[in-house]
Amino acid sequence: MAELDRLLRENIKKLIPYSSARNEYTGEASVFLDANENPFNEPVNRYPDPLQTHLKKEIARIKQVVPSSIFLGNGSDEAIDLVIRAFCEPRLDNIVSIDPTYGMYSVCANVNNVEFRKVLLTPSFGLDVESLLSATDAQTKIIFLCSPNNPTSNRFSGESIRRVLNTFEGIVVLDEAYIDFSSDKGFLPSLASWPNLVILQTLSKAWGMAGIRLGMAFADPKITGVLTKIKYPYNINILTMETALRSLQHSTGPQKWIESILQQRGLLEKELGSFSFVARVFPSDANFLLVKVENPRDLYQYLARKEIIVRDRSGMSLCAGCLRITVGTPDENARLLEAMKAYQQS
Ligand SMILES: *Cc1c(COP(=O)(O)O)cnc(C)c1O
Repeated sequence: MAELDRLLRENIKKLIPYSSARNEYTGEASVFLDANENPFNEPVNRYPDPLQTHLKKEIARIKQVVPSSIFLGNGSDEAIDLVIRAFCEPRLDNIVSIDPTYGMYSVCANVNNVEFRKVLLTPSFGLDVESLLSATDAQTKIIFLCSPNNPTSNRFSGESIRRVLNTFEGIVVLDEAYIDFSSDKGFLPSLASWPNLVILQTLSKAWGMAGIRLGMAFADPKITGVLTKIKYPYNINILTMETALRSLQHSTGPQKWIESILQQRGLLEKELGSFSFVARVFPSDANFLLVKVENPRDLYQYLARKEIIVRDRSGMSLCAGCLRITVGTPDENARLLEAMKAYQQS
């Protein structure tokens, strides 16, 4: 990659970050009169640790990385926004990504007034590396990839992602929100080999904690250092940190949930594929299935009337006719299948 200093925006390079009371004093003390907090109403009267030291140590243990390679955000969405703000000069720089994919990359690019270039996946949802690289130019600072990809549910070959990492001179953000449902380990084990790689993972999916908003970015400490410098000082609140710590320290982790979801995904794939109105169930490496049907709008509305909500993705590139269906509990999935049987007979 090009030197980090050449990729960063000038104002970010020069920025002197806000220094909070909790930043300035880091030793052991018992009387805190430094932050204008209310002395009553423990424990939420105190500002949270702006560096999330405790929580990062626990994540480092589980993910087998060093704490300095971790950035924590208010969901992955915060990391997506901060990476763009750190590297992309509005109206000058651009971002290259794939199509179809997760919508937040382009929304954050638009909010930041940064050009967003979309490169179509192959008809079988594969990564077209040549086209992706051809879409970049000297002003391309970031490539956003998502594997396993939402909404297509497949993962890209390690070989194709490595080619992007090896060739592109800027930052590659690889969103691995669904990696725990994949048969592949993803790129975290080889994070140290790529100084330009930012991997996004989250507690929102396999860990079952979408409600607490905790996203993780893993990268070279030079990059996590920049994100830490520009984030809101107290971006992760005490309740989120405590809930996350409790779950992460629990010995079994999300393994049982993942096993159930994978077992149910297999069952749904088979059952959905047998309906006459289903043209195709795409192979999934995630906790959802992309299903091509004869009349997606009609089926969506039929299911909604039965109080079952799925996602209509038929307007997205390469996804004509497709609904995206999240794998639920065995009961929920049984209700879905029952409703679809009734739809077939109607
Ligand atoms: C669900 C999802 C996320 C998770 O976002 P959070 O803000 O961490 O909840 C990230 N990326 C993709 C592609 C997703 O589908």
